[in-house]
Amino acid sequence: MNVLVWRSLIRYPHRCMCTVTGSSSQVSQPLNYVDGQRVDPKCTQTFDLREPATGKSLRYVASSNEEDVDTAVRSARREFKAWKKFSGFERGNVLKKAANIIRMRSEELARTEVLDTGKPIYEARMDIAGCADTIDYYGGMAAGISGEFLQLSNGNFNYTMREPLGVVGGIGAWNYPFQMATWKSSPALACGNTFVFKPSPFTPLTAVMLGEIYKEAGLPDGCYNVIQGEGETGALLGNHPDVNKMTFTGSVPTGTKVMEACAKGIKHVGLELGGKSPCIIFNDSNLDNAVSGAMMANFFTQGQVCSNGTRVFVQNSIMGPFLAKIVERTKNMKIGNPNHEDTKVGATISEEQALKVLAYVDIAKKEGASVLCGGERVVPDASLSGGYYISPCILVNCEDHMTVVKDEIFGSVMSVLGFDTEQEVISRANDTEFGLAAGVFTNDLKRAHRVASELEAGSLYVNNYNVYPVGVPFGGYKKSGLGRENGPEALDLFTQVKSVYVEMGDVEAPF
Ligand code: NAD
Repeated sequence: MNVLVWRSLIRYPHRCMCTVTGSSSQVSQPLNYVDGQRVDPKCTQTFDLREPATGKSLRYVASSNEEDVDTAVRSARREFKAWKKFSGFERGNVLKKAANIIRMRSEELARTEVLDTGKPIYEARMDIAGCADTIDYYGGMAAGISGEFLQLSNGNFNYTMREPLGVVGGIGAWNYPFQMATWKSSPALACGNTFVFKPSPFTPLTAVMLGEIYKEAGLPDGCYNVIQGEGETGALLGNHPDVNKMTFTGSVPTGTKVMEACAKGIKHVGLELGGKSPCIIFNDSNLDNAVSGAMMANFFTQGQVCSNGTRVFVQNSIMGPFLAKIVERTKNMKIGNPNHEDTKVGATISEEQALKVLAYVDIAKKEGASVLCGGERVVPDASLSGGYYISPCILVNCEDHMTVVKDEIFGSVMSVLGFDTEQEVISRANDTEFGLAAGVFTNDLKRAHRVASELEAGSLYVNNYNVYPVGVPFGGYKKSGLGRENGPEALDLFTQVKSVYVEMGDVEAPF
């Protein structure tokens, strides 16, 4: 995602030069995907799917009830028996083919992601390219998943096998819908598990497309399934007795419920939850890079990014020049139709979320913060008057105890906080229940590593922010989560170890 993927798009332009077909064709089709087919669920309950860019209803989507969830899990369970017997190399080949199909269909996928999320097309293209790379990466890793051998006395030995867990259930949030489907399913499938995914009800479209792509790449029917629905459907999946692991992305309160369900069934669980990350800027850093970094830490996907560094700590001696530059550049960000090439700020996911973000700006003002720019409802043009647009906001005069500095807002609201010393900023940065990410900008090599080692977060950025090259593990400390996605770590978390002792002599029984 982001900068590294952006660079790779420039280097390999064929990755985005693909057939563009209307994303709207994705809207009318059935949105559950079970046993290799798009199907309508049995459930008659529906929810309204709205386009964030216009606020218009796209369609009503049928939810999945207990029977629908059970059908998908049974399909995954049946196919697990066959898929786990494929060699890692064979599984990897399917994934690598899927990655190439994603590259061929990248423009259609990106346009559909824009329709669902309201994020600008330039970002959606970066997301899709990163997803293809992730699947490719696990395609390459699959052949190397193996156990170990231990020589024991008298010719006896032990070996370990890395075996899949079984049926994995996934639940996603709405900010990176295709990424969540790929980040969760590709390591799970590489390890020989089968998968049932429930996307966010705000963004149901692209996870189903992934099912069709996997099928075209040769994945047997039943290995990857999608069930649509709201919280109730997610709870049915998490509580299903035949699901062996849940991998969840969303808020801390919902993650707690998923973990409780897994505790009842003694299931493996991976949680990717919220954050309120610090981005620390020392006075010796390159100011332009620090400003770029702070913007990247706050303004991708309308600020709805879990790892965002929304607490921007700036050393007091450079506060003036930092604010002058960042306010000027933030005001220049083009807010507009997310399908336009020059749009940098698209639409927030929903009316409810937009109102929540604006309410936080009001609370900040009441608690004594000042708005330097943004934090207002915007109508980019008359055709988008029903959309959920908010100008990126920079707050100053913030203090650590303020609501806006403590809560995850999940919108483009940056709180700027001054600091004087390294020890002070480390202790303030760590004073949060979250621990997803953190950034440090400095030209002092020793300080960069000293601070990185002191910060309590799963992902640390030195002189950059929110870059996710393929192969780098991602996940939270503290209440930001459990386990890791991406990198080799994910393979450990989608497998279990079987230890086999082999006796080469006679049994010396003491009785
Ligand atoms: P959410 O917790 O409201 O919903 C997430 C998913 O859980 C949705 O699919 C929802 O339908 C489902 N759900 C709701 N109730 C459920 C239940 N009882 N059992 C099972 N599933 C249930 O979160 P959201 O508003 O969709 O997303 C925003 C949150 O996600 C933020 O806190 C953000 O930080 C977090 N997030 C974290 C990461 C990460 O990688 N750490 C990435 C993206 C988003």
